[in-house]
Amino acid sequence: MAKKKGATEIISLQCQDCKRRNYSTVKNKRNNPERLERKKYCSFDRKHTAHKETK
Ligand SMILES: [Zn+2]
Repeated sequence: MAKKKGATEIISLQCQDCKRRNYSTVKNKRNNPERLERKKYCSFDRKHTAHKETK
């Protein structure tokens, strides 16, 4: 592989309460083949909710 960032991918994090996409981040596909799930602050719900990776 000639590319340095071959396994890195841009993803969005979707709030599981209101289904809005509040965050975008990058992840290393090789290290994290599963869907990411993070606790993030949602400004629409005004609380921390579970955010899941989406495309
Ligand atoms: Zn939300």
